[in-house]
Amino acid sequence: MLSIVVLGGAAGGGVPQWNCNCATCKAARNDPDLADGQASIAVSADGKNWFLVNASPDIRQQINDTWELHPDESELRHSPIAGVILTNGEVDAVAGLLSLREGSPFGIWGHERVLGLLDANSIFNVLDREKVPRRAIAIDEPFDLLLQDGTPSGLTAEAFEVPGKSAWYLETTEHGHQRDVSGDTLGLKITGSCGKSFFIVAACAGMDDALADRLRGADLVFFDGTLWTDDEIVTAGLGPKTGQRMGHMSMSGGDGVMAAFEPLDVKRKFFIHINNSNPAHLPRAPERVLLENAGWDIATQGQKVTL
Ligand SMILES: [Zn+2]
Repeated sequence: MLSIVVLGGAAGGGVPQWNCNCATCKAARNDPDLADGQASIAVSADGKNWFLVNASPDIRQQINDTWELHPDESELRHSPIAGVILTNGEVDAVAGLLSLREGSPFGIWGHERVLGLLDANSIFNVLDREKVPRRAIAIDEPFDLLLQDGTPSGLTAEAFEVPGKSAWYLETTEHGHQRDVSGDTLGLKITGSCGKSFFIVAACAGMDDALADRLRGADLVFFDGTLWTDDEIVTAGLGPKTGQRMGHMSMSGGDGVMAAFEPLDVKRKFFIHINNSNPAHLPRAPERVLLENAGWDIATQGQKVTL
């Protein structure tokens, strides 16, 4: 069995974002059911030991809201979180690691570029490397997700590169506006010892043939749902950046995610990493209806999927 819990479905900033009065953030401030934390999921093969895909800045609340991630009541200090797999180095993917200090053991898996970011920022040394080893992920090579004592968890993961871009805060210091920098944007396939598997691709700038071939026929995919249209942040007056500029394809349109998935025969499809500018976040929005009619769901905190 493969158990998945969505810890958060929103993009960077969450919903509502602290400084935003866009229609969605305003609505979520008035109705807590519309609020959501920044994107992360937890996965387990045995229902006891859990691995997180990315550690969002909302992780403390996400753990408190998820009974599966609470300490075992028979122990004074304990966590069922056995590891965190990092798919990129954005703030909304790595900042939550800082909340996982306090001495509990777990593993961190990340591409060497992402681990390099942690190594270069001394604040991450709050995580004792003896108890919290950093393990490098090689692209396209499946690896076992190990429990705290080094034994197998029943889960394997495989990371693959998808079209994308580097973390914002690196752009001016290293490789400008380049895309496809190796290791900056990873998709993951996670497989349980039961043989079931699913994909999470929380950031993706475009669907190429390799990615389409990989996802075709999958039982479950979580995919980049940052934006409904490429220019929505610009037209809403929220900022100057288009989706393509940020490394995200849009949900809608001829070259959007929904169109790209049409021929892929994926059984269950969730959008994740929904920006607060995206009108499809709101349950009764026409964009949401279109999306649901196309067989998609929006991942939100607390959702559970079992394969
Ligand atoms: Zn907003």
